[in-house]
Amino acid sequence: MEVPDKHDNPIITLIHVQGVETFMTYIVVESCIRCKLTDCVEVCPVDCFYEGENMLVIHPDECIDCGVCEPECPVDAIKPDTDPGLEEWLEVNREYAEVWPNITRQKDHPADSDEWRDVKDKKKYFSPEPGDG
Ligand code: SF4
Ligand code: SF4
Repeated sequence: MEVPDKHDNPIITLIHVQGVETFMTYIVVESCIRCKLTDCVEVCPVDCFYEGENMLVIHPDECIDCGVCEPECPVDAIKPDTDPGLEEWLEVNREYAEVWPNITRQKDHPADSDEWRDVKDKKKYFSPEPGDG
């Protein structure tokens, strides 16, 4: 599939951050860690999810801001980066989308996924290792 250039797309949302025009994106945040249910990847029209060992990330430059993945996540781990306080997770998504493999199909979730669903403050469990893609 040809990936549209979001910078040429008139439906992409332009926002202003500290006086600078930029594009919003959706990102994956810490509640995905060790849940990694992968429901989200099936619906993404531009295949911009990338797989780590225990969570996924979204490539901010590839996401076209359509929002269809957000309600698919059972643990509410997908957020618009315009939500307050998500700067750190935007950088995690940006950094690891460059090095982890692309994932486009749902796969079996970790066996202990349910046990991690309601755990808070999971950042300390983040793994920088790549997934299988
Ligand atoms: S659906 Fe949610 S928990 Fe599952 S991989 Fe996607 S972001 Fe992570
Ligand atoms: S908002 Fe749309 S383009 Fe961005 S990751 Fe979700 S489904 Fe993919």
